Amino acid sequence: MADEPSFTSFHNIVAGKPRGSEKTSYTVDPATLENLWEIPVATEQDVHDAVTAAKDAFKSWKKTPFDERLRLLKAWGDACRPYLKQFGEVIMKENGKPRAFGEFEANHSFNEAFNYFLTLKFPEEDHTVNDRDYHVRYTPLGVVVAICAWNFPLGQPVMKALPALLAGNTCIVKTSPFTPYSGMKVVELAQKILPPGVLQVLSGDDRLGPWLTHHPWVNKISFTGSTASGRKVAEAAAKGLKRVTLELGGNDPAIVFPDVDVEKIAPDLCFGSFWNTGQVCTAVKRIYIHKDIYTQLLDAMARAVNKWKVGAGTEAGAMVGPMQNEMQYKKVRGLFEEAKQKGYAAKFGGDVKDTKGFFLEPTIIDNPPPDSTLVTEEQFGPIVPAIPWSSEEEVIESANNTAMGLGASVWTKDLDRARRVAEQLEVGSVYINSYEKVSFRVPFGGHKDSGIGVECGPNALVPFCNMQVLHYNFKTA
Ligand code: NAD
Repeated sequence: MADEPSFTSFHNIVAGKPRGSEKTSYTVDPATLENLWEIPVATEQDVHDAVTAAKDAFKSWKKTPFDERLRLLKAWGDACRPYLKQFGEVIMKENGKPRAFGEFEANHSFNEAFNYFLTLKFPEEDHTVNDRDYHVRYTPLGVVVAICAWNFPLGQPVMKALPALLAGNTCIVKTSPFTPYSGMKVVELAQKILPPGVLQVLSGDDRLGPWLTHHPWVNKISFTGSTASGRKVAEAAAKGLKRVTLELGGNDPAIVFPDVDVEKIAPDLCFGSFWNTGQVCTAVKRIYIHKDIYTQLLDAMARAVNKWKVGAGTEAGAMVGPMQNEMQYKKVRGLFEEAKQKGYAAKFGGDVKDTKGFFLEPTIIDNPPPDSTLVTEEQFGPIVPAIPWSSEEEVIESANNTAMGLGASVWTKDLDRARRVAEQLEVGSVYINSYEKVSFRVPFGGHKDSGIGVECGPNALVPFCNMQVLHYNFKTA
C-alpha cells in the first residue's frame, strides 16, 4: 500500500515535511556491526527552521481546545499501534536489545504511555480566603526541546512529547545520534494528524544538542542523559532562563538483608543488574549483601545467570544483547580490564570474549575496594560490584556515599525495616524487594547529581507549564 510507512527510510521532520541533508550518516547494528539505514545530519539552518516552525505553530496549538489536542494525540497513538512489531524490530536493530525487549518497549510506549499521559489534566485549584477567590491555572511554555539518550530510543521521545504537547506546547525531539530511527519514525507518523510544526524531529551530530539548547526561542529543555552532559545543558539553559528538567545518571545500590529467600530474589537481582545489558539509568549498580548470605546469594545469582543467553536480539531466547555502541563498549570493557589488572576476583563472568559485536558477559566482581571506579562511578554495563556488609548504619552510609541519587533497592521480609532504611536513602525512587518496574503513573526524578525536576506521575503536565493565579476581589465587583 502506498500509504504504508517505510521502516527502512528515515528523515528529519521540519514544519510537517520530511527533510534530508547534504551530509548523511548511519549507525551500526551493535550485534553484527553492519551499517543500518542512512540518516540526515541536521544543520544549524535546520535547527533554526524547526524552532521557527515550532514557535509559529505554538500560536494556534496553545489555543486549540484541550479536548481537541487530546483527540489528535489519541489519533497519533492509533496511527502507531498497528506497527508495534516493526518498531520492535527497529529498536532491536538500533539498540541491540533482544527482539522481545524491543517489542516490550514499543508496547510500553504505544499502550502504557499513550493510555496514561492522555488521562492527565491540569491540577487547577480554587481557594476562597476572606473576601477573595483564587484560581490556580496552568499555561504552556512554548517551544520544548526533548533530548533523548540511546537506551530507550522510542520510550523517551514518546514520554517527553506526550505531556509537552497535551499541555499546549510544541515539541522538537532530538534523538540520540546512536539510536535515531524509532524516534524519527514515531514523529513522522504524527505528521498526517498534527498541524505542521507541532511535533518535529532532528537527528544530527554532536553539534545538534548545543544548537538547540542555545537557541533563543526555545523555552524548555527536557533532557535525559549523563550527568556530564546535563551540566552543559543546565549552563546553556541558564543564559536564557529556559526551564529545564534533567534526568541524569545513577549509581543505584541494592541493600540485601539476611532474612531474604535467596533463591527467590537471585533472578530478580540479576535482572535488575543486567537487563538491557546494564544500560538502564536505574539498573542495580552496586550490590551490598549481608555477610551471612553473601556467598550463598552470589552462587544463586551465578546459577540464575547461567541460564541466560548472551546473543544478538534476533537469536531465539537471547536475554542479554550487545552494548549499544562502541564508545560505551570500550568504556565498560576498560572496567573488565581494570578488574583483571588489579586482581579483583569475578564471582561469575569476568572474561572478555572475542566477538564480532559489542558483547560482554554479565559479571559480578567480588568486593572491590570502596574507592575503585567500579564502586564510585556509574558503569552502565553488565559488570557490577558485590560488597559484603554487617552493620545497617554502615551500609546506609556506603549506599549514600556517592554524588548520584537516582534509585536504590532494599531487599528484606521485614517491611518496617525496609521502610526505615528506604527513608534514609538519598535517592528519588526506592524499590522494595524489586528492581525498577517502570510505571508512567508515578513521579520519577533524581536527587543530588542525578537530576533536577520530575517526569511522569499525575502532575506530569506541570513541568511543561507556567503557573498563573487569578485573584478575584469580591468587594470591587
Ligand atoms: P549523553 O549525555 O551522552 O547523551 C544524551 C543526549 O544528550 C544525546 O541525545 C546527546 O546527543 C545529547 N547531548 C550530549 N551533549 C549535549 C550538550 N552539550 N547539549 C545538548 N545535548 C547534548 O548520555 P547517553 O550516553 O546517551 O546516555 C547514558 C546516560 O543517560 C547514563 O548516564 C544514564 O544513566 C542516563 N540516563 C538517565 C535516565 C534518567 O531518566 N535519569 C534515563 C536513561 C539514561
